[in-house]
Amino acid sequence: MSPDSELAELVQAVQRAHTLGTVAELLGWDEQVNLPSGAAEMRAGQHAALAEVLHAAASHPRIGELLARLEARPAGALDADALAIVAQARRDYDRATRLPADFVRAKAAQGSRGYHAWARAKAADDFAGYAPVLATNLDFARREAAYLGRGDAPYDYALDKHDPGLTAAAVDRLFAELKRDLVPLVRAITASPQAERARAAAAKLRGFPPDAQQVFLREVTAKLGFDYSRGRIDVSLHPFCSGTGSDVRMTTRYQADQPLDALFGSIHETGHGLYEQGLPAAQLGTALGINAGMAVHESQSRLWENQVARSRGFWAHFEPRWRELFPAQTAGVGSEELYLAINAVEPTLIRVDADEVTYNLHIVLRFEIEKRLFAGDLAVADLPGAWRAAARELLGLEPADDRTGVLQDVHWSDGAFGYFPSYCLGNMIAAQLWARVRTLRPELEAEFARGEFGWLLGWLREHVHVQGRRFGTLELVRRITGEELSPRHLVAYLKERYGSLYLR
Ligand code: ZN
Repeated sequence: MSPDSELAELVQAVQRAHTLGTVAELLGWDEQVNLPSGAAEMRAGQHAALAEVLHAAASHPRIGELLARLEARPAGALDADALAIVAQARRDYDRATRLPADFVRAKAAQGSRGYHAWARAKAADDFAGYAPVLATNLDFARREAAYLGRGDAPYDYALDKHDPGLTAAAVDRLFAELKRDLVPLVRAITASPQAERARAAAAKLRGFPPDAQQVFLREVTAKLGFDYSRGRIDVSLHPFCSGTGSDVRMTTRYQADQPLDALFGSIHETGHGLYEQGLPAAQLGTALGINAGMAVHESQSRLWENQVARSRGFWAHFEPRWRELFPAQTAGVGSEELYLAINAVEPTLIRVDADEVTYNLHIVLRFEIEKRLFAGDLAVADLPGAWRAAARELLGLEPADDRTGVLQDVHWSDGAFGYFPSYCLGNMIAAQLWARVRTLRPELEAEFARGEFGWLLGWLREHVHVQGRRFGTLELVRRITGEELSPRHLVAYLKERYGSLYLR
């Protein structure tokens, strides 16, 4: 067999597994958007049956044979794209085959138990009842790393799982620098008299009918470039974006008294959706047609949500239409007040309620705690105290209970360690991409004011989307922006936007 036909057979096998994965995603989307309340049990059975089929496809011995042959080719026999396909297929194949079946079963059961234990503990503010679950989840995470040959560095393994190539040392360096600059900036903003005006302005936005909110956000997201012939937006309890290629599903939720939530949430999901719609259709499922990882994904959602949609240019274009749809609700709100409300900053204990400035500190807090947990420097029993101390140091606030402290997030309950840093790294990457495009295209914001967003989308398509997963997270950033990932662009962006509003 020639190398080409072996590669073609590998691609076919990988794409088949990926197609089955998209079916599983669709079942998950349907579960959160449409499922009749009595159908949960039946859906669980459908998920389980499909998971078996998917696992059989992903762990088929033929994939192992093909990989072994392709990897044995002499150096130079495969081009860069083929090498990327093989490397990603190896990563997926090892993950599908090196974890013993009983370990996978036990971990899944533990994840489900963990979720319910967390929900109970949070409702009752009972960390002690949850602590044994967390200790077991940590043990599972360490064992999984060991099965994949990374028992020496389980936290690096957890980070790499979400963002290829990422290490705790790299994140540590980036976050330490960010923290140094961001903590004083947040203190200065909080102390500004403008902070109170922003809160008051946001509080004026009340009684926005969901139907009209939906009209507005569909117009906005279509204008940004989301292709509604290859995707849709529906309502769910927790907003998300799933699917890929020509079938991207976004969700949102509407609250009459918090109209900015659905709007910015939808723009955020649109950033994820544009990325998935921009992956090369013929390569879906291989390294050339899947996203680069969580941090890069998050950079796309944050760039559209923050750098673009919180800009003056964006609002110069959309504000008249917004007022037209909500004449009574916006009558008492001036343009400058609206802009302040959109860019309100206020430290809060709850991550999901945080603004784009303080959000990063919530992530630094979680990373520092995860790192210490994995290093064995922090015992699970001591988590609540460590959380309180870190919240005081970073946010200037101390939770009165664990419900608003260590128990607030669902992630650790099913063992998703190493996931949080992606959110903040996404903000850093977004700011670095933004600095780059503004150098290339100084008139960008003036174009936004005219309702033109096509140049930015075209640039992201060419430099981010069509790259797929050819490169690790940090290498992709280096290639696109010509420099190493650094928090300085995020700090500069936040100082520019929020300094001009709060610190003048
Ligand atoms: Zn996101």
